[in-house]
Amino acid sequence: MKISNFEQIPLSEPLQKALAEKGYTTPSLIQERAIPLLMKGGDLLACAQTGTGKTAAFALPILHKISQSTRQPYRRGVRHLVLTPTRELASQVADSFKVYGKYVPFTTGLVYGGVSEKPQIKQLFKGLEVLVACPGRLIDLMDQGHVDLSQVETFVLDEADRMLDMGFIRDIRKIESKLPRNRQTLLFSATMAAPITKLGQAMLTRPDEIRIAPQGTTAEKINQAVLFMAKGAKQKYILETLTRRADEQPRELTLVFTRTKHNAKNLAKKLNQEGLSADSIHGNKSQSAREKTLERYRQGEFDILVATDVAARGIDVKDITLVVNYDLPMESDAYVHRIGRTARAGKSGQAISLCSEEEVALLRDVERLIKKPIPIDRDHSYHLQEVENLHLSNVKVKKPAQGKGNRGGGGGGGGNRNGGGNRYGSSGGKNKNGSRRFGSRSNNGNSQSQSSSRGAPKTAQPSRTNRSRNR
Ligand code: AMP
Repeated sequence: MKISNFEQIPLSEPLQKALAEKGYTTPSLIQERAIPLLMKGGDLLACAQTGTGKTAAFALPILHKISQSTRQPYRRGVRHLVLTPTRELASQVADSFKVYGKYVPFTTGLVYGGVSEKPQIKQLFKGLEVLVACPGRLIDLMDQGHVDLSQVETFVLDEADRMLDMGFIRDIRKIESKLPRNRQTLLFSATMAAPITKLGQAMLTRPDEIRIAPQGTTAEKINQAVLFMAKGAKQKYILETLTRRADEQPRELTLVFTRTKHNAKNLAKKLNQEGLSADSIHGNKSQSAREKTLERYRQGEFDILVATDVAARGIDVKDITLVVNYDLPMESDAYVHRIGRTARAGKSGQAISLCSEEEVALLRDVERLIKKPIPIDRDHSYHLQEVENLHLSNVKVKKPAQGKGNRGGGGGGGGNRNGGGNRYGSSGGKNKNGSRRFGSRSNNGNSQSQSSSRGAPKTAQPSRTNRSRNR
């Protein structure tokens, strides 16, 4: 049955009231499919991207259970446990529980590293209905006897793919070993790569499976483009483009991703020097500083947030309309998560990726993951046809090195893609500055033309100086 209204789902009255207050009328696809299943008590393996409404898909059935139960949490006990990869996502999930559960009396706690343990221990002491935690700190507190997971009723692994990427597999297994066998388990992941399926087999019992988007696909409403340019041209391009966009669309929220902390910090500084309002979040900032910056961004106190991937998962700011991949990510999965920060809650958004010669292998990885070419934007004064040609060619290219300052380690790579000439059919226009923005390769339907005013002004030539940066 097609569910077009939350009222068609038998969620308790306090939840319906909170949803109405929040202005949610129609369940998203994942909610429509997952909530009724979860309310029956079964396990779930869900492949859903960020931005699909997956948090409410698991939070609402849990809150429904809480609202129907008279059981109280016991000392140091937890009734519903949600694991997330990052602190930002943990805070965001806990906030969502509070919003949706506004009229349900329940206790919620947050556990993550980088901050003092004491308040977390205090929270846990009385017992909690809902605990949202990052695996590392939770293990620390478990080992010290501050938390008892033996009576967990619901276990949610949120963004499980990311947790595996971040090396949490052992922690997850350890946590799972402390849970009762008789529980409901939900696993959410943006991709369904083999390690996730394996994890699902180990932890879920006869799960229902929901796939909202095929593996690795990017949100449909995101208008994507890749721009080929010299590494040294990126800063000029972004300064010019964001300055112009700020004139055209004041208060537009932009999120820029860099690969290194150093780049994030410096770029935000440069943007401010140009009269734009920017700030950065990265691993060198303390957790509380990051949270404060995010809150200021959410409140619209500045327009451009420059972030490293550390922060990518947790940013839930509704009105981000532009995501810029200033550097392409080392891991292709991160591309999907980065661009998923725009086009939230059914809105549309734009994602542009600046690709230099050194990053061609990374771009190929991304396109292989999303199974389609990203439309090319040549309508800017920094277009480098050689880089585009290299990308479309069959020439093997190395990945940039990963370690500090992009030197040493890593590398190798290249050649791990399926070769095959012009991989997507026609090779696209030969000339730069074509009147069409999105090239002529076969495209994915996201390539509707855009106002040419978004291209960089045809002024200065790209500076070719750029130094390797610290991570
Ligand atoms: P999520 O994928 O859980 O991060 O949710 C993405 C965004 O969609 C969040 O900003 C939610 O507040 C919003 N959202 C979730 N469900 C709905 C809904 N049914 N109607 C409108 N907005 C929603």
